[in-house]
Amino acid sequence: MDLKGKKILLDPGHGGAHPGKTHKDRQEKDVTLKISKVLENLLEEEGATVYMTRTRDKDFGGESRDEDVNERVKYINKKYAGKGIDVLLSIHVNTDRLVSRVGVLYPEKGKASKILAQNLARKYGTFMANTGYGEADLAILRDTKVAGAKALIETGKINQSWYDDDEEVERAAFAIVAGFYDYFREIE
Ligand SMILES: [Zn+2]
Repeated sequence: MDLKGKKILLDPGHGGAHPGKTHKDRQEKDVTLKISKVLENLLEEEGATVYMTRTRDKDFGGESRDEDVNERVKYINKKYAGKGIDVLLSIHVNTDRLVSRVGVLYPEKGKASKILAQNLARKYGTFMANTGYGEADLAILRDTKVAGAKALIETGKINQSWYDDDEEVERAAFAIVAGFYDYFREIE
């Protein structure tokens, strides 16, 4: 099996005026774009068709972080309507607080999304121990209407130094690719 014919939409979280989480000079918006680009290449090597909500440092015109997400949702629903996207994955980094979790979130009432989240969490757990998964009421998951399954991954905490190591970023992306494989195997 490869990922030929599979359409995957990657959403690098934040961007432009909305940096997301920060730690010293590391900003979530840069990290999510870096991971997404590595992931895009790996998925294309496996035969998938990959779309990206952004490929550079930009926002979607919202005044606040939440408004910007709503603008992003509108953009996604307009741009990718009818494209037959199999999976939407929004990529994020969590805070450095002790209670912040690494894991995969899926929308309520999303049966395929739950299966996606389980498989992504299981495989991401080979890269980062204690990767969980759970339901979440987030606009990017709740209000986007173009994908068969949707998930958001918190890839780690913003103070973790592996984000600066290209090999580690590639390992993280590989784990996500493996999760996609397991998902498509399970639903087919
Ligand atoms: Zn985020």
